[in-house]
Amino acid sequence: MKKVLVIGEILVEIMANEKDQSFLDAGDFSGPYVSGAPAIFIDQVAKFKVPCSILAAVGDDDFGKMCLKKLKEDGVDITNIKITADVSTGIAFVRYNSDGSRNFIFHLKNAACGTLRSEDLDTMSWNDIAVFHVMGSSIFNKEMFSIHHKAIKMIPDECLVSFDPNIRPEILKSDPKLKELILDLFSKTKILFVTEDELEFLTQKTSLKQSLDSCFTKGIHTVIVKRGKAGASVYTDSQCIDAQPISVEEVDPTGAGDTFAGAFIAGVIHQWSLETCLRRANYAGASAVTKRGPMEGTVLFDNVIHK
Ligand code: ATP
Repeated sequence: MKKVLVIGEILVEIMANEKDQSFLDAGDFSGPYVSGAPAIFIDQVAKFKVPCSILAAVGDDDFGKMCLKKLKEDGVDITNIKITADVSTGIAFVRYNSDGSRNFIFHLKNAACGTLRSEDLDTMSWNDIAVFHVMGSSIFNKEMFSIHHKAIKMIPDECLVSFDPNIRPEILKSDPKLKELILDLFSKTKILFVTEDELEFLTQKTSLKQSLDSCFTKGIHTVIVKRGKAGASVYTDSQCIDAQPISVEEVDPTGAGDTFAGAFIAGVIHQWSLETCLRRANYAGASAVTKRGPMEGTVLFDNVIHK
């Protein structure tokens, strides 16, 4: 079976225990939990028994060891994860508000995950990679920009690019170069994961139909629209399939989209039908929100195969 590749940050997440807890005062926190959008994504791919790898960096510290152990145990190929001696593993602090919003403090750019360089791609083999999954949120500095720029030029024609822009339109608007790269990535994409807002922003169209038509014209063959607790839909130029929402108690929404995308892409490698990919991804996304910790709700292959 061919592999899935992602490039980006691995970090640990420390969570405030109380809703509306402030970062300005001392308080109780839980964690560390292994996190980082690409790490959550690739962990779910591995748990669906698909060979996969992540190009990333962690520090030579206990947080880094914890991340490596978890990803390896779950089946991720960790040989492309650098261990940096001088900088520590990335950290995110998160707190939840009673209106459902979240606040983060990231230690990322100056942490191990900020040390990836485009030369790190040179030793990688692309031969066995069937899907290169790109996450917009991982393009957080100039180097991550260069790495993705170079990677997108290196990938063989037969490798599919799946893309989750996962970025707020206001950030894109504030950085024209980033917008350029995102649009370049968009033009190479075959499978797109978006919210309706992101789709509208990327295509500059105002109706869903017009946005989808614009994607298909550009060569994207599958568009997956994520709708949080309202479920998800998959569109091709000849099909529209909806996944009805699964009713769950939402304990921690972080990572649902990454888990969903990991499950869907694993299904593509397994050559499941689109309907099955969507149904199992919807199940994985719903499961993700039921557990405290961004990666704790990822789903095992054996638990989904009868869904
Ligand atoms: P994040 O950026 O937090 O990872 P996202 O906006 O990329 O999230 P969501 O739409 O929140 O992605 O979640 C992805 C999918 O997971 C949804 O389309 C749905 O299938 C499932 N899901 C998410 N939240 C819930 C929920 N509360 N109840 C049921 N299913 C959910």
